[in-house]
Order: sequence, then structure tokens, then C-alpha cells
Amino acid sequence: MTTATLKDHRELGRELDLFSFHEYAPGAIFWHPKGWIIYRTLQEFLRNITASQGYQEISTPVLIKSKIFEKSGHWKHFRENMFNFEVENETYSLKPMNCPESALVFGSKTRSYNDLPIRFSEYGILHRNELTGVLGGAFRVRQFTIDDAHIFARQDQIQEEINNLLKLVIEVYKSLGFNPKFYLSTKPDKAMGDAKTWKEAESDLEKSLKETKVKYDIKPKDGAFYGPKIDIHIDDSQGRDWQLATIQLDFQQPESMGISYVDKNGKNERPVMIHRGLTGSLERFIGILVEHFQGSFPVWLSPVQVTVLPLSDKFINYAQKVRKALEPIARVEVDERNETLQAKIRDASMQKIPYLLVVGGREEEAEKVATRTREGKDLGQLTLNEFKMKIQQDIDKKS
Ligand SMILES: [Zn+2]
Repeated sequence: MTTATLKDHRELGRELDLFSFHEYAPGAIFWHPKGWIIYRTLQEFLRNITASQGYQEISTPVLIKSKIFEKSGHWKHFRENMFNFEVENETYSLKPMNCPESALVFGSKTRSYNDLPIRFSEYGILHRNELTGVLGGAFRVRQFTIDDAHIFARQDQIQEEINNLLKLVIEVYKSLGFNPKFYLSTKPDKAMGDAKTWKEAESDLEKSLKETKVKYDIKPKDGAFYGPKIDIHIDDSQGRDWQLATIQLDFQQPESMGISYVDKNGKNERPVMIHRGLTGSLERFIGILVEHFQGSFPVWLSPVQVTVLPLSDKFINYAQKVRKALEPIARVEVDERNETLQAKIRDASMQKIPYLLVVGGREEEAEKVATRTREGKDLGQLTLNEFKMKIQQDIDKKS
């Protein structure tokens, strides 16, 4: 594919009816039904994978008093990127990140060393104040959602948690068909905390990268203000590099937020906080996927997975019967329009629907479907059960 024929996600989003942007909400996405299916399918995939790893999902307020960010340290370093305003003589913010609120949930009761690690995941709606001039489609937005999580752990649990996170990142990216690249981002000039703690945190991360045997490079001075991080990048189908996931090790916020657990000897100890996102902003990630696949999503992510095309009105009943049979496992439509078969095939291919099932007299009699792909490949006549097995396999394998 040449660069000239490549479309950007805004154009594809319009053609495929996934989402739109409106002047009333610069930097925010209006999700249409088909785009929202992609969003929810991706979210469900992430939810399932993290639930199996012992995460518990929480949800915290979007509108919150700014003083929580003064306490966490964000106010000093991040205030100009936040939306802040007065409500009843007090300053409130739209949260730009979930970390301090997640610490409040951790601190809401006494935690024992036995309870750790505690892994809270959150799909919180975040706002960051970007100038309208730099906003661009799904890539630079003011409102977005991160597949966020905060792990509260003891010092002796850090290594295992980071190792597991690296494995999780590799697993998630492999199932999406990407090959992740790893970077260790070290202490920036504008940083909180003492040099010794930073060194320790950096070496903890480096040790995990070595133990997991992944190749990595260093990004000097690119850490968060509260701790070093591992950044994970991918290359898309057009050779562009994107930073998506991060794993951040933080000794500062537990201190500033004043959270603790009770150790073996009944003494209060600070947990360490690990921040992590696998895809980063879901909005941006979907924008990247739209361009990466140029709208031809793998079957499991396709908003419509199958379209049934009756040869004429006479076969609408059978087409509906096929739809009903497939509905429990796939997202199916019937094209009942009074159009030629060629026109229906052309439209379904333009909508990038993975499977087109043509049904007429022969198919109805044999309880079969004439199966073709969006690329125009003829898979011949399959029984309904054969087709069911085929599409189920695609969905399970995320192909
Ligand atoms: Zn965080």
C-alpha cells in the first residue's frame, strides 16, 4: 500500500461511521454505535485479561477539589495542564489522572501486609487542558480514558509485580499483533524525592527488564516527576512509532498522600505505588488501530462481522434465519435493500465487513451459505455449522 492511498482515522471514522468531532467539544470524541462497539470490545478484552491477574476495578470522581492535587504534588508540576475553576468559593479540577484518588481508596481502611499487593484498575474519564490549536482527531484530545491501574505493594513485592506487568504487556500486544519495544526512562530534571530512592527505583525496573529478557533502550531524563518508568512502544503498519504502555514505579505519592499498611510487627509502613496503562488513552489507541488496519479490523474487533446478502426478496426469510443462527456468536446484519448483488457486495467491502454470506435458492435448499471475504476471496459453500466454527475460531484467535 502506498502512502498516497492511506487514509487518516478521521476520514476512515467518517466513512465507516465510527465517530465524529464537533466544534462544540474541541478535543473530545462523539462515539457512534459502530465505534462504540470497538471501544467496548477492546475494553472487555482488557477487563478480562486484568481480572484474571487479580485486579479489582474501581471508579472515582471526575470533578474533585484541587487541593487533592496540591497534596499529591501534581498541582506544582501539572497545574497548567488541568481544568481548574471555582465552585462555591473553592477551587475544583477535572481530574487529569486517577492516581491520588486511587490512593484515597487504598487509604479508606486499614491494610495489613498480608493484603498486599492490592491492584486497582480504573477506566476513569480524564481531562487535560491542551490548546485548541494542538488538538488533532483522536491523537491529541482534552477528554480521554486510560486503561489505568495502580498497584500498592511492599518493597519485597516490587520485582515480581514489575516482572508480571512486563509479561502482561507482551501478552496483550501479541494478541493485538504488535511487537512491543521497551525503554527505561530515568530521572528528569524536574523531579520529586531524593537521589538514592530514584537510583533504587531505576535499578528495580532495570532488573525486571533483564529478568524478563526483553531488549530495551534508555530514555535519559524522561521519567515522571515522581518516579522512573518503563515505556512501551510499537510500530504500526506504516512504520510509525507510537508510545502506548507505561509502567511507573513511585515512592513519592504514597508519601505525599500519607498512605500506609501495617507490617508484621504492627508498625505502619509506606507501600510503593506502581502506575500502569497497557494501551494508554483508549481514544488514541483506537485512532492508531483504525489507521494501522486502515479500517479492516480483525474479525473480533469488527463492529459488523458478517453481512448476509439475499439474492432477492424471496430469500429474506432464509437470510434472517441465518442471522438468528449466527447472532449468539457474531455481530450480523442482513442487507435487505432492493439493490443488485454487485452493489451489496461493493458496499459491504467498502464497510470492511469481514464475511459476506450470499444466500439464494441453492443455499436455502441445502441450508448453506456462499461465503466470501471482504478481500474478495471465495470460500465456497459452507454449512451453517462450518461457518459458525470458522468465525468462532477467528474470534477466539483474535485474527
Ligand atoms: Zn497513576
